[in-house]
Amino acid sequence: MDGQETTDDLGLGIDPTTGNFIADPTQISTSETEIVPGGFFDNLTPELFQEMVDIFRKSKNSGPSHDTYDGILQDIENNTLSSDYIESVTNISDMHLESKGIDQDKAVEIIYAVLESFSGELLKKGLVNGIELRFDLVNVQLPDDNPLGIESGEYCVSADSFEQYWNIFTDKQKDWFSRHVFRGESYATWFKDNLSAGKYFSSPIVLYNQSFDLMNIGLKSNKDPKEIGLEYLESIEPSSRQDLYHIGSLNHEVAHDLYAYLIHGTELDEKWREVVDQSGNVTNYAQYWEEKNSTRDYDENFAEAIRIYTTIPRYMDSERFTPIQKFIAENFPDIKAA
Ligand SMILES: [Zn+2]
Repeated sequence: MDGQETTDDLGLGIDPTTGNFIADPTQISTSETEIVPGGFFDNLTPELFQEMVDIFRKSKNSGPSHDTYDGILQDIENNTLSSDYIESVTNISDMHLESKGIDQDKAVEIIYAVLESFSGELLKKGLVNGIELRFDLVNVQLPDDNPLGIESGEYCVSADSFEQYWNIFTDKQKDWFSRHVFRGESYATWFKDNLSAGKYFSSPIVLYNQSFDLMNIGLKSNKDPKEIGLEYLESIEPSSRQDLYHIGSLNHEVAHDLYAYLIHGTELDEKWREVVDQSGNVTNYAQYWEEKNSTRDYDENFAEAIRIYTTIPRYMDSERFTPIQKFIAENFPDIKAA
């Protein structure tokens, strides 16, 4: 999840009554108080606006995430989720790797970096069964009061179509969308509170097109990382920041799965909470969630801690972060500091 700050793992939730995805609240624009459907796009002809609405409508729940999400939901409804953790782990025979809309060498580089950070064994323990780079899709989470005037939910729009509209959007329209585009997804984290204890499912980690969200736009235009809440990237060469951020976003998602299956509700959770309370929120992003929900988000803190530990560990070389480094090294010796 990231928002006004960022968007990665998408602090997505599921609306229990409609079954719809709930957009990350940090993505919701604060600049407009009231949006009149259609009126926000008065620079588009009615035909062009209608065409855009149709493209969005066709893209509703169309991404890889929705197939996975639907499958999991169905298993929950039919009560057919495995209750045998060991069996669930051993059933993962191989890791499904997929990339679309991204240069192959770049995709290999990113996926390889993730596999380097976590051993295959550990990914299996987190029931991660795939890594998908879907840069051919822009994941837009529309809230209820969206300017398209259509149903809220998750829309996976083809990056080519989205870019066509993006190119004619005004700055205000770009700003709105940049706050509603999501970077990646982890499934275990959404369901960890919805599932009764002892239920397991394996799922992939997905990273979507990284061109239109607030953080990536900021990094691409060489903004000071501190200004966009990513100060841990300050020590990194500007030309490498975005790649490292992509890898960090995937690792952040993997960490959510590890948290869901190996920490959440265990004794280790108590220890982790103590460590975070001692150090304070790991990043601005984790801080944002605490402010938003008026309660500290230990899952999000773990995901952010792993992001930094695996990509810019020297950022943690301070007394403040020593307990966090120690916690990870002692309890997850298979996670490699970069
Ligand atoms: Zn997250």
